[in-house]
Amino acid sequence: MHDETPAGFLLALGGNAFVTGGEPLTMPGQFAYAEAVATRLLPCVRDADRVVVVHGNGPQVGHMLARVEAALGTAYALPLDVCVAETEGELGYVLLQALRNAWRAQGVDREICAVLTQVLVAADDPAFATPVKPIGRVLSAAEAARLRAEGVAVQVDVGRGWRRVVASPKPCAVLETASIARLLDGGIVVIAGGGGGVPVTTAHERLLGVEAVVDKDATAALLADALALTTLVMLTDVPCAFEHFRSPRQRAVGRITRARLAALAADGHFAPGSMGPKIAAACDFVDRPSRRAIICAPDNLAAALADTDGTRVHDGE
Ligand code: ADP
Ligand code: MG
Repeated sequence: MHDETPAGFLLALGGNAFVTGGEPLTMPGQFAYAEAVATRLLPCVRDADRVVVVHGNGPQVGHMLARVEAALGTAYALPLDVCVAETEGELGYVLLQALRNAWRAQGVDREICAVLTQVLVAADDPAFATPVKPIGRVLSAAEAARLRAEGVAVQVDVGRGWRRVVASPKPCAVLETASIARLLDGGIVVIAGGGGGVPVTTAHERLLGVEAVVDKDATAALLADALALTTLVMLTDVPCAFEHFRSPRQRAVGRITRARLAALAADGHFAPGSMGPKIAAACDFVDRPSRRAIICAPDNLAAALADTDGTRVHDGE
């Protein structure tokens, strides 16, 4: 069957796209690592009409919250939605520069632009009743108890310690979708949906930022669908999803149908909050034959695009 759909990629970069495993986060490190990742993205952008880049912000928003806390009494406080917006600005800038530098060096001269993104969430999303997404630094037991007494949700983040937790509601719509589509029509590469976008709700026909974080993989799938892109690539720090992860029976998930992948997810193979959201995003996005979703690392991206490595999800038709 001849597929008339023009190639369109959404590349979702994990927070790990800006830091090599275990190293402390620094600005020079983020610029350098982002440029290395940008070089790996070239196979996607060379021939594609439409390219969108989404990025994570977990570590960066944690640092932003630490700065806010340290400066209390000196500088005005920033609520979480503003911290997310701040990291969209920070990482948008890092990516704009890294992409331009990396691509120019390889003779690719495409316009790139970063769009500050608001994501609409439902005020009555059940996620608000049970916040589970850890944010910010590790707290002492005494700090956790004090925050809890003040009504702030805290939980033990397994393997790390007490942390603040916030809701991670489902993204319903990206408010800047029409602007992004126009930029794509003009051949411009767009960075959008950073950190999953700034979560906002509507009340009395007005927008209002909320204390929550939206999963960037969920926003990536929503945006890729709304913009009629054909390939969703989620770049992370593992080369693929695994069955029986970190057990002696661990096995790579390669080319797979969404039905089979959903069955593995239902069997609990993918951890919530890390690989789980990527699998859900892949299954949501790949609901027709013209679409594919890929989970891989920067190192095996080229092979994953060539359908020989990484997790490649298709609709099985
Ligand atoms: P990102 O910043 O790319 O979103 P995450 O930490 O959220 O990164 O997700 C990637 C992580 O998911 C991997 O580092 C790995 O430890 C974890 N993970 C959990 N379950 C699995 C699985 N079944 N297969 C592969 N990785 C998994
Ligand atoms: Mg993640």
